[in-house]
Amino acid sequence: MNDLGTGTPVPALASRDGVRITIVCACVPPRRLQASPGSFERGPVMCGVCMTNFVHAEPRRPRRRRAPREL
Ligand SMILES: [Zn+2]
Repeated sequence: MNDLGTGTPVPALASRDGVRITIVCACVPPRRLQASPGSFERGPVMCGVCMTNFVHAEPRRPRRRRAPREL
């Protein structure tokens, strides 16, 4: 006799599925990696080249140029 009632395991879906952050190290030019926030917050990620920890890249800022003054 087989119990067929519990044959389908349900994978746990992460609520932040698909969210990625960009992290950079101190290399020149910096190496850019994409990681999930959860895995990055779990512990430091070190670059084997410059031996520094990756840090969260600054979010893109819209460049605001000074508006030219009206004459
Ligand atoms: Zn590096």
